[in-house]
Amino acid sequence: MTLFPEMCESVLSESIIGRSRKAGLVEINCVNIRDYSTDKHRRVDDTTYGGGAGMIMQGQPIYDCFSALIESIGKRPYLIFLSPQGKVLDQERVKELAKMDNIALLCGHYEGVDERVIREIVDEEISIGDFVLTGGELPALVLADSITRMLPGVLAGEEAFEEESHYNSLLEYPQYTKPYEWHGMTVPEVLLSGHHANICKWRREQSLERTYRRRPDMLKNAELDKNDLKFLENLKKMEENTETDL
Ligand code: SAM
Repeated sequence: MTLFPEMCESVLSESIIGRSRKAGLVEINCVNIRDYSTDKHRRVDDTTYGGGAGMIMQGQPIYDCFSALIESIGKRPYLIFLSPQGKVLDQERVKELAKMDNIALLCGHYEGVDERVIREIVDEEISIGDFVLTGGELPALVLADSITRMLPGVLAGEEAFEEESHYNSLLEYPQYTKPYEWHGMTVPEVLLSGHHANICKWRREQSLERTYRRRPDMLKNAELDKNDLKFLENLKKMEENTETDL
């Protein structure tokens, strides 16, 4: 539900999401809230009560747009309002949302949305980060993309996302492609060895080390076995030793 359906449609027609829509793996409809305005000039916003800069999106067109959606689907979709005041999106929430059958996304614009319609129909507010954008379209596209790529059949295999950053509270290991040498840098030898177990071990350790160095806060939620813990313990010890050497 947006005031800029063409903007959303153009992004959602490309690449993996576009192909998945065509293949019927996911259905995404971009609905124009303005089509539901009862104002003779198709107005959807007005000035703020109490004064202040910017226009506020009115309740009526949004409410009627959502009611029409319920009617066309035949049941009430779970309604998410994209808002900088919502809980910040993470992969855990994406995984849960990907299990739902029907989701509606409400994109705010201008200064925001009349509080009463949020209270009346919204189930959850989601933010894509602690910063403010001009509208909810980009956040809605981010959410639609992150959910769609987790649906069965959208990516080549389950592994495609299971090894990726954040899926298991770890960052992904570094990746390389051809040529073998580029700008004087070569590919780590283990990846050319064809030795599956060694490659797995190297990738796991790279993943652990990256997470430890870049996002140590994530490690507390990661599932770590005794080899992982030993590896991280050694990393810490090595760091302590370099600090004392200095
Ligand atoms: N006045 C609002 C406030 O301070 O909370 C911000 C309004 S913002 C300029 C316009 C719209 O963009 C919002 O209603 C929301 O839909 C969207 N938006 C902006 N930043 C966002 C973010 N970080 N996450 C999700 N949606 C966002």
